[in-house]
Amino acid sequence: MAAAVEVRGLTKSYGNVHAVRGIDLTVEPGSVTAVLGPNGAGKTTTMEILEGFRDRDAGEVRVLGLDPGSNGKELRERLGIVLQETAAEAYLTPREVLAMHARYYPHPRDVDEVIALVGLTEKARARVKTLSGGQKRRLDVGLGIIGDPELLFLDEPTTGFDPTARRSAWEVIRGLTGGGTTIVLTTHYIDEAQALADNVVVIAAGRVVAEGPPAVITAAQHSLATVTFLLPEGVTVGDLPVQGTVSSSGLVEITLAPADEVPVVHRLTGWALERGVPLQDLRVSRAGLEDAYLALVAETGDAVDVPA
Ligand code: ATP
Repeated sequence: MAAAVEVRGLTKSYGNVHAVRGIDLTVEPGSVTAVLGPNGAGKTTTMEILEGFRDRDAGEVRVLGLDPGSNGKELRERLGIVLQETAAEAYLTPREVLAMHARYYPHPRDVDEVIALVGLTEKARARVKTLSGGQKRRLDVGLGIIGDPELLFLDEPTTGFDPTARRSAWEVIRGLTGGGTTIVLTTHYIDEAQALADNVVVIAAGRVVAEGPPAVITAAQHSLATVTFLLPEGVTVGDLPVQGTVSSSGLVEITLAPADEVPVVHRLTGWALERGVPLQDLRVSRAGLEDAYLALVAETGDAVDVPA
């Protein structure tokens, strides 16, 4: 099947600011792609070009097989777009807003079904202006899917949500992919990318610096293991059988290559048993997607604002 989104060599500058510097991107149909990157990395610019809201300087772009630069109107009927700003009319109810927007599309979804899907049944007849921030965001998602889009763009869909609301938004998103919708979302939450995405694209300084399933990106960073425990009373860091650092709160930290994890923990626990000292709060942790992301972004630096 053809890709839902295919981008090759995309560039875009605003005057001297090279916001997008040669991005390649492929989104498979039915997948969830999360676009991560620091502020100013070029995520919104890229999304707006894909959505047909912004012209590009160069590069090939196909969205659902069409060029958004020249087929914007035709394309928009097949897309759902949830921007960061709430678009709903304040004095109408969610039901009225959704019914009104449904009329813009040739094959809209059922209004009540969408209200239930985004968890707004109880607020269906309240005025939009009385909804909480999280409830308004749910309505935004409802507006994004009312046209039954083949491809849904979500710009930071859960920013400002409480943890429970985030989990239920994730369920909504999972439900949509279960129904075959392709989703491209931007987020600053690494756990959101990890929880939802089949594919993560990390953009930094206008370029893709990593792409792949979350686990592959993490593994590619050769993540180190960290062993931590509280320094036992009467013991100095120099007494330990392995080298580590100790913080002012007495937490010992030992950083290891993954292959050294088992022998070092063995040596440490053997030593503690022999001496009869506790290793309180002993933990072995492996760097996750967040550490991999931070390492990738740090390697790239913030080099966007350079003269043309
Ligand atoms: P954020 O995470 O903060 O939303 P982003 O990754 O979406 O950031 P963009 O909004 O695409 O980044 O911005 C990329 C660069 O382009 C930034 O340096 C920004 O200041 C610049 N930029 C974006 N829009 C414009 C504009 N309309 N005019 C001039 N410069 C712009």
